[in-house]
Amino acid sequence: MSEQTTDTAVGTETHSFEAEVSRLLHLMVHAVYSNKEIFLRELISNAADACEKLRHEALTNSELVKDDASYKITLSSDGTAGTLTVADNGIGMGKEELIDNLGTIARSGTRAFLDQLAANNGTDGSALIGQFGIGFYSAFMVADQVEVVSRRAGSSEAWRWSSDGMGSYEIAPASDEDALPRGTKIVLHLKEDEKAFADSQTIRRVVREYSAHVPVPIRLMSFNEEANAIDEEDLTDGSALWTKSKSDITEEQYKEFYQYNAGQFDDPALTIHYRAEGRTEYNVLAFVPEHKPFDLFDPNRKGRLKLYVRRVFITDDANIVPAYLRFVRGVVDSEDIPLNISREMLQDNPILNAIGKGVTNRILSELEKFAKNDEEKFSSVWDAFGPVIKEGLYEDPERRDQLFKLVRFNTTKGDNRTLADYVADLKENQTAIYYALGDSKDGILASPQLEGYQAREVEVLLLSDAVDAFWVQTALGYDGKSFKSISQGAADLDTIEKPKSEDDAAKDEEEKAKEQGAVAELVTFVKETLGDAVSDVRISSRLATSPVCIVAPDYGPDRQFEKLMRSQKGTDAALKPILEVNPDHSLILMLAEQLKAASDKAAIEDGAHLLLDQALILDGEHPANPAVFASRLSKVMMSGLK
Ligand code: ADP
Ligand code: MG
Repeated sequence: MSEQTTDTAVGTETHSFEAEVSRLLHLMVHAVYSNKEIFLRELISNAADACEKLRHEALTNSELVKDDASYKITLSSDGTAGTLTVADNGIGMGKEELIDNLGTIARSGTRAFLDQLAANNGTDGSALIGQFGIGFYSAFMVADQVEVVSRRAGSSEAWRWSSDGMGSYEIAPASDEDALPRGTKIVLHLKEDEKAFADSQTIRRVVREYSAHVPVPIRLMSFNEEANAIDEEDLTDGSALWTKSKSDITEEQYKEFYQYNAGQFDDPALTIHYRAEGRTEYNVLAFVPEHKPFDLFDPNRKGRLKLYVRRVFITDDANIVPAYLRFVRGVVDSEDIPLNISREMLQDNPILNAIGKGVTNRILSELEKFAKNDEEKFSSVWDAFGPVIKEGLYEDPERRDQLFKLVRFNTTKGDNRTLADYVADLKENQTAIYYALGDSKDGILASPQLEGYQAREVEVLLLSDAVDAFWVQTALGYDGKSFKSISQGAADLDTIEKPKSEDDAAKDEEEKAKEQGAVAELVTFVKETLGDAVSDVRISSRLATSPVCIVAPDYGPDRQFEKLMRSQKGTDAALKPILEVNPDHSLILMLAEQLKAASDKAAIEDGAHLLLDQALILDGEHPANPAVFASRLSKVMMSGLK
């Protein structure tokens, strides 16, 4: 433990720091860490803890606070002397406590920090400081001399602890003039290049950023040279908005808090504020913004809920809710998590996991309620964050059904349709939920594969967000109906009645049968002609106005999804498509007739190739061989002009 020498004349003892503290301090003193300002958060959090401890002790011993039952933290800056003082009227420390708390490593978080440092032998410790925040010793990042004068509440004696952080500290009795009536005052003699921390503007900013909601009011006293007087200013009032009851908070206060907390300028579209009680206790104040932030699709997908423990800010890195709710802003304040928990330990902390589950469920149910109560406002939230929420459909299968209640679709029937709307409007004999993937709604609406569905008034989901291709592959279905791509496999539209066109009605049965026979022959011919280029040629029920289209085989990915995967992997080995032919289209009927009559089939062979190329182009692809395509097209055009 610490060695000790006593200078009896003035009662000053010199102790050396525990070896590990020395190591830590060496790091602090030489830290090249850019986020040094967190030292103030640490000192304020200690000051607030000290007040909370006394608040607790005074519950059973009111004598301790008989002179002053209010709690406060006072920051005083002196630009001339280059000092910053953090004072509290909390529990204070006696001599032994000063030695134990400020000379050894008692704190679990600091221990974990050192373990981590040992584990990554050779890594830059300064990078770890920010993750752990390592408490009191972080003062040595900005100060080359630190004095702590403390009086334990109810005690007549006071002690002064001081150190330059270089291996030892001194401890001596403090005079009554020097010490506060109770509590602790920490004087930082700022390093030459850290004097900015004696500047009231800097202090104000750092306090607002990290300590705006500590449960003890913070006052700033700064020396005003011009007026030769001390300016006093209350930086915070010590009340955390989220701990107040809803009825005591105005819309305006919620909005201010949201804007400050999120650094946003819009209004919250939805405010969720509640207290969870029971096995885990926590307060939640969360907001769904009106507008998308610019970094919503950043690859790190970082969550925006800040974790507090008993009103003290811990981290905004805890990812309390799943990434698909990363647009939700605000605060979760736990009563049960230990204050000194490190980020590593937070990762699979069972309390935090339980909180995360609870908060996620609550956010989803509040969104559902919101969607019911204010359709219009919800739809603008959906426009902003829908593509993010949809990530949950494949990342969080357990909550998929809950998420399906929120999801809004553009469909061939209109915008803002829910799956419940869709299922309520199913056609007779329709057993699947049809979807079409594409880059844009208009692009999808122009695709020939859609025609047969449109002709039968079968609703089709128009999926144009990048994430759609993923969830729709994994979602098993909704309300017992599976999701089915309109550009894959058989259309199975035959059982769904199609309103008869005048053309159809005019033709008699015999004529119809003859036509069908001719088209069947054409299909066989086209298939032989195209050979390996397609996996099949068949008659289609999904077309109405276009002569042909291509679709993906039954087994395998949807064409759009396959295209996406191809572009990501940089390969071009597409699955061979199926060419589908519209048996009612005049071009097809004419070709079929020609095939019967003509002895020279060359023109029909050209026709077969052009049909496939046309279908490929309609699908956003290139003809298999553009040069051959162009020369065939020219040939056909010339014959038309003769
Ligand atoms: P932690 O706050 O995580 O315990 P710190 O390094 O920040 O770790 O502080 C170490 C200990 O020093 C605290 O646990 C507390 O007992 C004591 N301490 C620090 N600052 C104060 C203060 N202002 N008043 C009373 N005790 C304090
Ligand atoms: Mg601390």
